[in-house]
Amino acid sequence: MSFFKTLDVNEDNDKKAGELETAENVKCLIIGSGPAGYTAAIYAARANLNPVIIQGMEAGGQLTTTTEVENFPGYPEGVTGPVMMEDLKAQAERFGTDVRWGEVTSVDFSKRPFNVIVDNKKPFLAESVIIATGATAKYLGLESETKFKGAGVSACATCDGFFYKGLNVAVVGGGDTAAEEASYLASLAKQVYLIVRKPYMRASKAMIKRVENTPNIEVLYEHNTKEVTGTNVVTGATLVKRMGEADEQEVKIKIDGFFAAIGHKPNSDLFKEYIDTDEIGYIKTIPGTSKTNVAGVFAAGDIQDSIYRQAVTAAGSGCMAALDAEKFLAEQE
Ligand code: NDP
Repeated sequence: MSFFKTLDVNEDNDKKAGELETAENVKCLIIGSGPAGYTAAIYAARANLNPVIIQGMEAGGQLTTTTEVENFPGYPEGVTGPVMMEDLKAQAERFGTDVRWGEVTSVDFSKRPFNVIVDNKKPFLAESVIIATGATAKYLGLESETKFKGAGVSACATCDGFFYKGLNVAVVGGGDTAAEEASYLASLAKQVYLIVRKPYMRASKAMIKRVENTPNIEVLYEHNTKEVTGTNVVTGATLVKRMGEADEQEVKIKIDGFFAAIGHKPNSDLFKEYIDTDEIGYIKTIPGTSKTNVAGVFAAGDIQDSIYRQAVTAAGSGCMAALDAEKFLAEQE
């Protein structure tokens, strides 16, 4: 049972009073600070909803861990992810968005105003909530991978690539993230192995071309990672190469860094008791809207999008969520 559920912040509960700070009433609470959250904040602030945005563990969202963003409209020369997120934050704050540090630790969406607790101590009573918590990088799940996390294993080339200047690294995955991470690492590292489990990559054609034309990237098609090896830090990996239907061959590579780039998990666990999700965990919204199954709770960005997952589509859905919340609140009055 969550901490929150032992406590009703609507009641003056003397026994528990010391455990929680005073509840704050807000018209529109936005959870998550990626392009979806900040765009929702810009629209909500301009509609006088006085939004409060809870930034979450990864302030700025996934884009803060990316390098160049070349496909966001309005930046003809491209922009780095962190700069774009700072721009979005500044734009949201310009219209009065209240940006808070902290992580939402529990929610109660069973009645309005919705109870949302930040860092186990700060309750908010929200007339409407926009969930924009995005998705988190996945790892392969190997024991050896866990052992070397922070000692050669990472899921963020932009965060950790610098440490591998002139060294050898491997990236696992065949999507756009893997292609992007491999390209970025190739500009720093001596040699990049891109480990792809299928005989082809699912990344966009442009990204595949870029990867295949980069001299220090070697794409290892039909390879799976068996183990990341080393003593205190990563020094290699053991791969298994598929050789036709039944045949396999073990391949050892010497590497100093191992980057997982195999996709993301939607950050919806906290809401599942109240909010309908699909089998993977993506929040279900009513098609063409940002509405969830709970009236007054909306979802925007990667948390509800398993298909497009782009910064610009996340921003667009953040706009939709703010407009839906504004309409919802107007109807309640
Ligand atoms: P994807 O889900 O597209 O790709 C994941 C990749 O990881 C697939 O190639 C998959 O293999 C592989 N994979 C999954 N599990 C394993 C495993 N256990 N072992 C080995 N390989 C595994 O995720 P991405 O993060 O790459 O992309 C997500 C979305 O974001 C996409 O829509 C993408 O286009 C978009 N994106 C866009 C960018 C841009 O426009 N600049 C940059 C980055 C992402 P398999 O193919 O065999 O299933």
